[in-house]
Amino acid sequence: MPKNVSNTLTIFFFVLVSIATLAQTKSKSIHLEIQQRTEQIFDSLVKIRRDFHMYPEVGGEEKRTSTKIAEYLRELGLEVKTGIGGYGVVGILKGAKPGKKIAWRADIDAMPSKAPDVVDFTSKHEGVRHICGHDVHAAVALGIANVLVQQKEQLEGTVYFVFQPSEENVKGALEMIDDGLFDIIEPEEMYAMHVTPFPAGTIAAKPEEMFADYKRIDLLFNKNVNREELFKFGKQALLSLENIDPDSKFWNMQNMGDPQMGIASANTIYTNFTTVDKNNFSIKEITEGVRISGYFSFSDKKQRDASIAALKKKIVDSKYAKDFNAAELVKVFPTLDNNERLVNETLKQLTDIYGEDSVLRMYGVVADGRSDDFAFFQPKAPSVYFFMGGSNYEKGIIAQTHSPDFAVDEGCIKTGVNFFSSLIVERLRP
Ligand SMILES: [Zn+2]
Ligand SMILES: [Zn+2]
Repeated sequence: MPKNVSNTLTIFFFVLVSIATLAQTKSKSIHLEIQQRTEQIFDSLVKIRRDFHMYPEVGGEEKRTSTKIAEYLRELGLEVKTGIGGYGVVGILKGAKPGKKIAWRADIDAMPSKAPDVVDFTSKHEGVRHICGHDVHAAVALGIANVLVQQKEQLEGTVYFVFQPSEENVKGALEMIDDGLFDIIEPEEMYAMHVTPFPAGTIAAKPEEMFADYKRIDLLFNKNVNREELFKFGKQALLSLENIDPDSKFWNMQNMGDPQMGIASANTIYTNFTTVDKNNFSIKEITEGVRISGYFSFSDKKQRDASIAALKKKIVDSKYAKDFNAAELVKVFPTLDNNERLVNETLKQLTDIYGEDSVLRMYGVVADGRSDDFAFFQPKAPSVYFFMGGSNYEKGIIAQTHSPDFAVDEGCIKTGVNFFSSLIVERLRP
């Protein structure tokens, strides 16, 4: 190779490497700026969270909460739309540069609870408390909006902040959709997170299901059968679908965070299971015949489909074959279904910025079938629902949602704002 060509090439590569390094340094400095800004506003976010905590509102009544949210977003200079699907609020942040469109959803409702608060900033609304952490979700989302506004000049694309009411009663997401949410926002990707018992400072996700798929199965038979015998048979058939490792202890919620067998371990016991709710069978006469129902938690689609197939075979092989009409799956809660590509990409991006100790890949599925109505948004755009750790075991703080002594280490607000602001900046890039 002639020397001058070689020289030109060297210079060319040098320039390329410099551009790459420059881009990397620039990208790094954005994340440093994000962390600095989060640090600056952290105390104010804790204050906001405590305010939401002291004035909790159940689904459909989030008037005060949504007013506060809209005020905060307007003060930041965002375009704000209110009254979407009840007390839903949308804040739109347009970056100075072209890029993608990303939505971040936070749920804002509290829930009924008569148990006393375990914190000093107790609920002033009798019988209502934030024991699912939605006060934290709202504060984190406002924090992300604040941090990203500071980055507006460098920000590529548009960020939509969706504050959703009525998550606990599984109505809010659908109500926002029915009220035209997706005429206002056109996200190419959509994200959300929920506080979980993992340690504060961590986030986690997995592809597809995060929670077991909780469904009812209805068996439909003709009328002319002995009901008592049929019920006995139907119950047995439904019970026989239980499929758990005999050593498995996954009904014990405490083990879900266990490093060896928990949901974030590659050797998790919370996988490939079907459980049957043993206290919840019914037989009912309906116009078309007789219906026997039972409730199930499936770890994944494969378990669910295999169970239905096994059930049908059992009935077809029995004396009830000629009177059997159908086995139907009935939705009880929506099922989260994380986009696999996005899970892989986002966990890698977050690991690159915040380190592998803080970013957990989940292998297991939460055995409790209670999911999140973010599931209704998921068919609208590729999306990921994250878990965000809220516990501090040393301080005795366990963020066990819906537990009467639910509490969070407020340090997790910092993690949420940092991680998800960084993530949105990275994801916006065209
Ligand atoms: Zn909840
Ligand atoms: Zn919740």
